[in-house]
Amino acid sequence: MMKNTAVLISETLIGRGIYGDLNQEMTDHYHSLLEEKIDNGIAEDKALEQVFDQIKADDLTRMNRKIFFLNHKNVFLSSALSLIGVILVTLWGSTHLQEEKQVVQEEVKYNWPLAMANGNISAKYDQKRQLKSGALIRHKGIDIAANTGTPVLSPYDAIVLETGNTSRRGNYIILKHHNGYTTRYFHLSEILVKIRESVNQNTVIGRVGSTGKSSGPHLHYEVIKDREHLDPETISVKLP
Ligand SMILES: [Zn+2]
Repeated sequence: MMKNTAVLISETLIGRGIYGDLNQEMTDHYHSLLEEKIDNGIAEDKALEQVFDQIKADDLTRMNRKIFFLNHKNVFLSSALSLIGVILVTLWGSTHLQEEKQVVQEEVKYNWPLAMANGNISAKYDQKRQLKSGALIRHKGIDIAANTGTPVLSPYDAIVLETGNTSRRGNYIILKHHNGYTTRYFHLSEILVKIRESVNQNTVIGRVGSTGKSSGPHLHYEVIKDREHLDPETISVKLP
């Protein structure tokens, strides 16, 4: 039994040693699985146990991760080719981007991903959201309210690491930037880039929408540095 319904789910998982050794995609996968169960009215302690059972069943020893990844590629990857894409992107990232690493080591100022004055922040980073069960989960990005169709801009030079659609994220894009940064864009009405494509700062990569688990048109924007989520507001310069 959970001692406290207000316990943060992700911290609970980390506390149980579940997330510590998983990569970002796997962590997200289980987190989403858990959130979906709770959203569907399963009691949180039951949902947690079910996810733990699933993790056990998935048997995530190092050897089995590749198999797990392949089994879930529809979630992680937008096409069969994407696996190759991810490998290429990773290789590209570790060689190509490394050259520039020394140069751009310090303080990259990312542009705001919407060039619109109408982008009010409707949910802040780290804001806690209460689920029907009473459990609190943490907001891993910011929600920027904007009209459907508003262009979403790459905040910095990047390559497209992943695009796809899930029931939670809706249409989404993940960009890989310099120095271990990735950024994520959820609930898009349109995806305008392809995996492995390189984009420049301010390239239009997609359009704001309300796909996936969303109650109205907005951009869910996440910034991750070396697997840790950051507050996008602290690294992005707002355009007027
Ligand atoms: Zn959000």
